Amino acid sequence: MSSVTVRVPAKVNVQLSVGPLRDDGYHDLVNVFHAVSVFDEVVAKESDHITVSVVGEWADQVPVDDGNLAIQAARALAKHAGRTYGAHLVIHKSIPVAGGMAGGSADAAGALVACNELWGLGLPFEDLMEIAGDLGSDVPFSLLGGTAVGTGRGEQLSELPTTGSFHWAFAVAQGGLSTAEVYAQCDRQRESAGVEVPWPQVDDALLEALSTGDAATLGARLTNDLQAAALTLRPELVRTLDAGRAEGALGAIVSGSGPTCAFLAADADHAQRLADTLSQLPTCRAALAAHGPVPGPRPSWSSPRP
Ligand code: ATP
Repeated sequence: MSSVTVRVPAKVNVQLSVGPLRDDGYHDLVNVFHAVSVFDEVVAKESDHITVSVVGEWADQVPVDDGNLAIQAARALAKHAGRTYGAHLVIHKSIPVAGGMAGGSADAAGALVACNELWGLGLPFEDLMEIAGDLGSDVPFSLLGGTAVGTGRGEQLSELPTTGSFHWAFAVAQGGLSTAEVYAQCDRQRESAGVEVPWPQVDDALLEALSTGDAATLGARLTNDLQAAALTLRPELVRTLDAGRAEGALGAIVSGSGPTCAFLAADADHAQRLADTLSQLPTCRAALAAHGPVPGPRPSWSSPRP
């Protein structure tokens, strides 16, 4: 039986600036996404119904019912195409779950690309991006890959130029954090501080560092407005961040809504050394070395296309 396989990268936010809470409950963001070489693999096989199974280290934390974002993506694609289609999706999970690395969004993007190919729909990238935007704020970037700045809720994307590779270590914490809870905590902290929240602005120096491959400047400019809230909810992450800084990280930051922490390294060897050190911490479930940017998902058939 033929099947389609796609590999989809995780992301780290190198700038996450969160504007005031809007009336619709969302925040305006400046969100600079960077795809890194930690991949989930989504395999779509022919089937009468849309179903999913999950394998890999983090599989036990992922729903296999309608709550799975990959199922939601496949359904949305079939609806867009106006037909009833089936596919069994097998997700090989390597991206930490509820870790602020957009693993669920990656699987949704993977399901869109894999099913578009499996079902022979041939929908253009723009259509997939539109469906992705309805599935969640991070799904369009998971489809795009590379490095990009998102504005609005984060879903209006512009690709950004980069030079060379940046090297990263990721400290995966025990347990996850709910993105919604971290935003709610951020709102509470801002309200009690009583300060006016500024409109989020793109950091031009950070964009320049990405474009010239200047890791030292990028490390110094990493920002995440959700970090204070994530650290309030998980104070032990302060120790994780300090351990990476002590090991010479060029920058140390909570990744997105956390609790994964991201460390920018000077080169690939440094990233591996950081990962080795971080993996020894009691606050750490695992540590990974990776590089970015990497491209978004591309489909490949396991046997000749029927
Ligand atoms: P983000 O960085 O986009 O805020 P995250 O990386 O923190 O997201 P995810 O790994 O995407 O979080 O998972 C968030 C929740 O979504 C999980 O707790 C899980 O219950 C649910 N979920 C649904 N589908 C998936 C999927 N395919 N993979 C992982 N989690 C999924």
